Amino acid sequence: MPGSPFCDGHSLLLANFAGMHARVFGILGGLLSTLWSQAQWTFKGDSTATWEQAIARYQKLDRMHTGARLLEIGNDDDGSPIHVFLISDGSGFTPDSIRAAGKNILWITNGIHPGEPDGVDASLLLAQALLESDQLMGLVVHTAVCIVPVYNVWGAKQREHPSRPDQQGPSEHGIRANARNLDLNRDFVKMDARNTWTLADALRTMDPDVYFETHVSDGADHRYVMELLTTQKDKLSPSLSAFMTATMIPELYTWMDRKGMLMCPYFETVQEVPDSGLVAFYDSPRYSTGYNALFDRIGILSESHMLKPYAQRVNATFQLMLATLAVMNKYPGQLHEAREEAKARTAAVDTFGFNWTLDTTRVDSLEWKGYPAGQEASRVTGLPRLEYDSRKTLDITVPWMESYRASLMKRKPKAYHLPAAWARDLVPRMELSGVQLVRITNDTVLTVEVSTITDFNTSHSPFEGHYLHSDVRATRERTKITAHQGDFIISMGAATDRYVMEVLECDAEDSFFAWGFFDSILQQKEWFTPYSFEDIAAFMLEQEPDLQKQLEVRRAGDPAFASDRWAQLNFVLQHSAYRERNYRRYPVLRVVE
Ligand SMILES: [Zn+2]
Repeated sequence: MPGSPFCDGHSLLLANFAGMHARVFGILGGLLSTLWSQAQWTFKGDSTATWEQAIARYQKLDRMHTGARLLEIGNDDDGSPIHVFLISDGSGFTPDSIRAAGKNILWITNGIHPGEPDGVDASLLLAQALLESDQLMGLVVHTAVCIVPVYNVWGAKQREHPSRPDQQGPSEHGIRANARNLDLNRDFVKMDARNTWTLADALRTMDPDVYFETHVSDGADHRYVMELLTTQKDKLSPSLSAFMTATMIPELYTWMDRKGMLMCPYFETVQEVPDSGLVAFYDSPRYSTGYNALFDRIGILSESHMLKPYAQRVNATFQLMLATLAVMNKYPGQLHEAREEAKARTAAVDTFGFNWTLDTTRVDSLEWKGYPAGQEASRVTGLPRLEYDSRKTLDITVPWMESYRASLMKRKPKAYHLPAAWARDLVPRMELSGVQLVRITNDTVLTVEVSTITDFNTSHSPFEGHYLHSDVRATRERTKITAHQGDFIISMGAATDRYVMEVLECDAEDSFFAWGFFDSILQQKEWFTPYSFEDIAAFMLEQEPDLQKQLEVRRAGDPAFASDRWAQLNFVLQHSAYRERNYRRYPVLRVVE
């Protein structure tokens, strides 16, 4: 990884994948934990494994089973190692050997929010069940499984102080933030955290077909133990979207239903309570499922409900993992083909949609198993408060909106030109995501489209370490430039095209521009001294009657402007040869010829 400070992690991953030394295995007696009931594969209790306990259990499984390996893939911001546990019986532990064996890959990330540790325990149960149960072993015939035991290691270690007051257990757990107080599930584009570099590197290397991440849901109370969040269907390439919506999701519901575990889609309410209608979540590229969708991967988030007892939540998370594996194992060819078709389409298609908004014209209905809600006086504020009555049930049909449409369509250029000056921050991030960047060896004249930022809004307080820009507007003009030796060219026509456009188009909502990587272009550096510029401006207006006319028109229509001497002088400057060329000029160019 040239330029990446985490190349050690990268090499280590490859070294570990490559280093399949024969090991001496022995059957080590004893249970991994008294918490597991091996006969039924259920979790009991109200405590979650510490990071150290989780790693020790995976180390034990690694020693006991030839079909499993625990590897270090890089580091947390605090320096702790981040692990992945691979279950790949008979097909080796490299992406090539796994693919050569005809297997697809399921990736499971736990502890991205360690205050929501259900998946940490569910995955320990899953690993043990897949390796030790004759019946469940069959679920990995066509699939290799990669489990990140705990992704936010530092957050998982912060167990001394209580957090998440609304959540029903476990008795002690970690916190949401990582060591730099970042929410790792907002970090997939900007990659501020070392954790994200580690994960992006590993995802690029293994290129899983399905990305599964474990969470606990806040929000309205209801009878569902699990809320299922999947990649927004309209954003996904059609072949993959069809597999997900027509095959995968229905089978996940069937499985959970058979296990007696109520599951509903992950939702936001239109008004305060579900009765008024529900809306599906939109996962822009900053989120894990949004980021993975750019690489034509199906994303699944298990969102167990915070008010259900811990053991119930862990078991529901475990069952949703099994259900996902069951679908992947039942339709390995269809999943593989859908994904190959999606990747080919991403490389070939000439237009992508961006900045998706809810399509309120498409309203479905959803059978809802809730609790009746009412208002009563708060004992804290004395004001009315919402209360769900969980002693009664409410079975109704509610409006359900899960369709989104792109509010911005963009044609692919032939390539992007990235000047060397901007490479330091951007090139490593794009390389981690698998983008091929080529350095220009000789100065080259290119026909390009240059964007000029005309308008944007900025958050008033920092969001995830950045003053995020939104509603970015830009004009675009075609010109010729000389690209210099050392600059970078990113050619289109690859399976990473969609990621490249999402991060490099300045008006895409999660672009590098939106996250502030180009903020220095938003400040004008050269100004004028009004009294001395007066005579120059007067001379310019004499020479350019059209500009004189424009100034008069503006004065006539804008009284504030007409009474502002400085604004008028600046108007002349901005329409002159003295105008600062790089102010608001977006440095990434769309190469069109
Ligand atoms: Zn979460």
